[in-house]
Amino acid sequence: MSDVIVIGSGFAGLATAIRLQAAGRRVRIVERRARPGGGPTSSRTAGLRSTWGRR
Ligand SMILES: Cc1cc2nc3c(=O)[nH]c(=O)nc-3n(C[C@H](O)[C@H](O)[C@H](O)COP(=O)(O)OP(=O)(O)OC[C@H]3O[C@@H](n4cnc5c(N)ncnc54)[C@H](O)[C@@H]3O)c2cc1C
Repeated sequence: MSDVIVIGSGFAGLATAIRLQAAGRRVRIVERRARPGGGPTSSRTAGLRSTWGRR
C-alpha cells in the first residue's frame, strides 16, 4: 500500500521518492522501462566504464 506514486525513475523521480520516504510517506515508483535511472545509463567495455544516453 502506497501513499504516493511517483511516475518515472529518473533523477527527478528518485530524488522526489527519497525525500517523500524520508518524510514518512510510503512511496511506489512506476517506471516504464526495464531499468531505473532515466535518460543517462552506463556500460563497461574492455574494462572501461562509459556514460551515455539521450539528453
Ligand atoms: C550522458 C549524459 C550525461 C549527463 N550529465 C549531466 C551532468 O553532469 N549534470 C547534470 O545536471 N545533468 C546531466 N545530464 C542530464 C540529466 O541526466 C538529465 O537532466 C536528467 O536525467 C533528467 O532527469 P529527469 O528525472 O527529469 O528525466 P529522465 O531522466 O528523462 O527520467 C524520466 C523517467 O520517467 C520515465 N517515464 C516517462 N514517462 C513515463 C510513464 N508514463 N510511465 C512510467 N515511466 C515513465 C522514463 O522512462 C524515465 O526513466 C546528463 C545526461 C546524459 C545523457
